[in-house]
Amino acid sequence: MKTTAIVLAAGKGSRMKSNARKQYMMLKGQPVVCHSLAVFEQCERIDEIILVCGQGEEAMCREQIVGKYHYNKVKRIVPGGKERYHSVYEGLKAAGPDCGTVLIHDGARPLLDEEMIGRLLDAVKESGACVAGMPVKDTIRLSGENGYAEKTLPRERIWMIQTPQVFDYPLILSAHRKLMDLKDLQVQITDDAMVLEYITGQKAGLVEGSYRNIKITTPEDLLIAEALFGDPFSPARKEKDVR
Ligand code: C5P
Repeated sequence: MKTTAIVLAAGKGSRMKSNARKQYMMLKGQPVVCHSLAVFEQCERIDEIILVCGQGEEAMCREQIVGKYHYNKVKRIVPGGKERYHSVYEGLKAAGPDCGTVLIHDGARPLLDEEMIGRLLDAVKESGACVAGMPVKDTIRLSGENGYAEKTLPRERIWMIQTPQVFDYPLILSAHRKLMDLKDLQVQITDDAMVLEYITGQKAGLVEGSYRNIKITTPEDLLIAEALFGDPFSPARKEKDVR
């Protein structure tokens, strides 16, 4: 059975305060989305890639991203939907029945690395569902009324959740199908583990991601990502780059 990576690039990026969308902004000389496509392309444990782009952007992505940079593992380019989980569902449907394990990744996280992909693929064999994340560094308070904090949460138990999020393919496909049938969502769904938990009650395992694995969301994130690409201690950099 195949291991498939779904790379999401159908977001509007409204927090970026720019007309250019964050997944196509230039980072180290390439569009942001290219960096995660390149990691999956090079990773031996990934068989194929599905790129989910904005409506009407398929041809542009085929020519200016996949063709131009030679991502041979990209088997399909499909348009996404209104919310992130709609885009994920389009990617899942495109994966096909020979897919055994699926990694869902935000194209706006260019700094993932092969080591974390390996940790996730090892963990998913046990749990069927796991996500990358890291413990928070700051104190986290829940805001209450009138600008006061309602309570302080126990920092050692709070994790920032990242992607890739990795699942047995039939499990996450079936959860998304059921989600699509629901008329009234009671919660805001922001990631794939939430879909699984909301629909089936099954929880995803937490696997160490990396503090470098930031999501490009606001303008300063691009500057941080540029700096992180220059970091000689990054596991994403090959030996030859460091010398
Ligand atoms: O909006 P957010 O920052 O959570 O987006 C995370 C990732 O999901 C981004 O890579 C974005 O392009 C993608 N996304 C998508 N379809 C949407 C919304 C977000 O593919 N409707």
